Amino acid sequence: MKYKGYIGKILSVDLSARKTESLPLSEKLAEDYIGGCGIAAWFIHEAAQKKVKPLDEENPLIFMTGPLTGTIVPWSGRHCVAAISPLTGIWGEAYAGGTWGRELKKAGFDGIVVTGKADRPVYLKIINQTVTIEDAAHLKGKDTYETDAILRKQTGMDVKVAAIGMGGENLVRFAAVIHEGPAARTAARCGLGTVMGAKNLKAIALRGEGRIKEAQEEELKRSIREKLPKLTTDAEHRVKKACSVFSSFVADGRHGVNNWRDAELEGFRESLLKEVERHAGETKPYLCAGCRTGCVESNTSGGERQTLWEAFAPLGSQCGIIDMKNVQRAYEICNRHGIDSISAGGVISFAMECFEEGLITEKDTDGIRLTFGNSEAMLSLLEKICKREGFGAVLAEGTRRAARLIGRGSEKFALEVKGLEVPAHDPRAHNFLALAYATENRGAIHTGAAPRIEGSDLMKMGEIRFAVSGIPEMVIRGQNYSGILNSLVLCAFSHAGHAQYFSPADYTGITAREVVEWLNLVTGAERDVESLLHSGERIFNLKRMINLSLGLDPASDSLPDRFLTRKRQQGPAADHLPQMKEMLEEYYRLRGWAPDGKITAEKLEELEMKNPVQYDR
Ligand code: SF4
Repeated sequence: MKYKGYIGKILSVDLSARKTESLPLSEKLAEDYIGGCGIAAWFIHEAAQKKVKPLDEENPLIFMTGPLTGTIVPWSGRHCVAAISPLTGIWGEAYAGGTWGRELKKAGFDGIVVTGKADRPVYLKIINQTVTIEDAAHLKGKDTYETDAILRKQTGMDVKVAAIGMGGENLVRFAAVIHEGPAARTAARCGLGTVMGAKNLKAIALRGEGRIKEAQEEELKRSIREKLPKLTTDAEHRVKKACSVFSSFVADGRHGVNNWRDAELEGFRESLLKEVERHAGETKPYLCAGCRTGCVESNTSGGERQTLWEAFAPLGSQCGIIDMKNVQRAYEICNRHGIDSISAGGVISFAMECFEEGLITEKDTDGIRLTFGNSEAMLSLLEKICKREGFGAVLAEGTRRAARLIGRGSEKFALEVKGLEVPAHDPRAHNFLALAYATENRGAIHTGAAPRIEGSDLMKMGEIRFAVSGIPEMVIRGQNYSGILNSLVLCAFSHAGHAQYFSPADYTGITAREVVEWLNLVTGAERDVESLLHSGERIFNLKRMINLSLGLDPASDSLPDRFLTRKRQQGPAADHLPQMKEMLEEYYRLRGWAPDGKITAEKLEELEMKNPVQYDR
């Protein structure tokens, strides 16, 4: 591998054959697909062509870092997990922060591709390029915090552990991979923990002492010094910043209330801010490797992850709950048992509306009065989902399948896109979000279109929130650019200064200019923004190809009816509905796709990806 930053090795693990192998990472593959989700998509493309099903042994489960992971570049401590999703049946990817990704590189690999299925529970142990498949019978049924503690004790080392809990073991379709025990850095979306469970792979424990080399270390240090703002680390500053972010989300009208039926939940804002203030003021933030700014998602208390927006809203306001103590308990259940808090909140709020509308009764719910605002009901259902017990087994299938199982017209309350539950940002609040949710390859994802590219700050979208003109182009560039950030792998908050703890109030984060400069200084390559965006477009199209191979109907590039026909009624987003048809037509045209959403042969030619599976290994 001529490029620095990479290790140049991929670990291939076949659990059926109990065989592990170190394979070279092709330079050309690194040039075209960079790392992270790009290279993961390249691996999964082959399986998609063979119509592999999510729970099949052949579904490759991929853990992938990027060229910036583990370097001194700020915000570079995240890594990608990908597979064909058991929740949606199409492309699935998720990201976790913390230090696991850096440790994987220090242990001697850019990524891991796991295929096959072990005949009994196992875990993977990787210590400085020595890889063993170990028995995990003693870990069966243990939660992710316990698994982390046991493996650290058993190995006698500070291993970094990625594990599944009961959710993954019981094949809950939205199970997450939880990293580093109570610090709970979660790769939560798309049910990738379910794939791990299907493979009988309980955990991956890593330890490495290698060093990741940068091509121009001194120049890189100078550039980072120059471009990072002066940071303020005191608690008062953290509280102010965190409260301003969460206040702005509520004021913006982004949070779902009662399964997105209503707009306001009395007392939610006050309760939320009190909780945020407590966490941000009293706790010590846990930063991902290389991160200096922290963010509103870095709170830990006694080493345990505290609530964040994607738990506050789905498990809180979306279920009509303002009691943050119970939301925190619910979030802990999600992390210990390893399930996605967004999907969990989505499927429970869906069931609550079904209950309130009389589509299901206490006879269906094992005697639980499943009304909005009933936090005890929510907590009890969460446990049942993880155990696949009683009505929990229905909801463990995710919202789309649960609606099919319940029937009785419940589909209209199922708020998902392509089978993935909607995150905590209302698409009626911004046309940009609406189109991004409808067209993102995973389904409803709030980070699928990156906010800042060359200085245009999409986080300040107030003036254009309901515009149609220009939005499809902005979403396309944002999606292509997001593919780059997720391939490098760089935290999305690097581009959202407002979400950072220690940065000045007016800091708006870095742009693609800094990203490309740092990438070149790390790898020794000579890329520019346009060439990166070209790779981003290729990656986005490859994921679309995966989905089309797996049977995706392009008509699913849309939003649930509720978001297209029912207004929020109150707040700044009241009286607006996204103009989906108009935006989508323009989106397809600008993507260079056919009017029916299929990728054209000309587009594949232009992106030099007529046969993307041919690379020398
Ligand atoms: S901004 Fe937050 S999530 Fe992103 S790298 Fe820093 S601590 Fe991790």
